[in-house]
Amino acid sequence: MNNRYSRQELFPPIGKDGQQKISTKHVLIIGAGALGSASAEALVRAGIGKLTIVDRDYVEWSNLQRQQLYSEEDAAKRLPKVIAAKNRLAMINSSVNIEAIIADASVSELKEWAKDVDLMIDATDNFETRMMINDVSQMFEIPWIYGACVASYGISYTFIPGRTPCFSCLLDRVPLGGLTCDTAGIIGPAVNMVVSYQISEALKILAGDLESLRDKLVSFDLWKNQFNSIRVDKLKKEDCPSCGKQRSYPYLSFENQTKTAVLCGRDSVQIRPSFPTVRDLEALEKVFVNQGGTVQRNPYLLSFSVNSKHRLVVFKDGRVLIHGTKDISEAKALYHRYLG
Ligand SMILES: [Zn+2]
Repeated sequence: MNNRYSRQELFPPIGKDGQQKISTKHVLIIGAGALGSASAEALVRAGIGKLTIVDRDYVEWSNLQRQQLYSEEDAAKRLPKVIAAKNRLAMINSSVNIEAIIADASVSELKEWAKDVDLMIDATDNFETRMMINDVSQMFEIPWIYGACVASYGISYTFIPGRTPCFSCLLDRVPLGGLTCDTAGIIGPAVNMVVSYQISEALKILAGDLESLRDKLVSFDLWKNQFNSIRVDKLKKEDCPSCGKQRSYPYLSFENQTKTAVLCGRDSVQIRPSFPTVRDLEALEKVFVNQGGTVQRNPYLLSFSVNSKHRLVVFKDGRVLIHGTKDISEAKALYHRYLG
């Protein structure tokens, strides 16, 4: 037990001092898919003090090819990703305090989660959440590390408030877009490469070695054997609404954001109730069984196959995923038919 971190302490830039600092730090990971599960495992093995991990989804068979924390049993039980992640992470390092949150990152929740965090890791699959993370980072002066990948391509950058440009500054200058949907598929090594960049940077921040941070935006394609490292430090905009002198934090202002979202590459639509709700899943199961569908329930969610094409997954917090459609109006019709 005592020499658990000996190899990391032998590494001079970290040392015993750096390890001591790492052990007191709290990291928030937004997303528990491929990037999130690899980041979480790396940080928990490295011995951070506390990890908060947030995700809105549950484990499916198509995740197992690259989402390293999950097992066949998790997929069979349709466990929420953060619950399965916490189970596995607690086995890896029981001294890390792990907080698992099953939720969709909304503005008010993200602000709450970020309150006493030292670092945020982006492991989301969507643009809207990244813009919120960026504004929260600027508002509370918390660094965040961007990472995205699709197919065999990946990209990463470290945002330090007051020191680097922010995500919003870079939007129209560097190719950050086009990575939001996983319709092009993805291979595991691309995920691990992005995570290697993200976690190296994370360890520098957590150990207090800011001088060693990479100040360039890095991108690569492992299949095409391409690598790019772009200087972006001069791209900070004085008039940026997120990090400039006159700030409005535009992505935190729509408190009533979209209540429906088409999920990337999933043939699914998410509908979020417009006010806080707690669903009685057991009661709901009885209702659905009476309607003749196939129902599967665990303590966190209920899955209901309406017909051969559509399946509803209802979470305790009232969120519903409608699988089998990308059409928001069709999804809403199903939602109202079965859930009022
Ligand atoms: Zn900015």
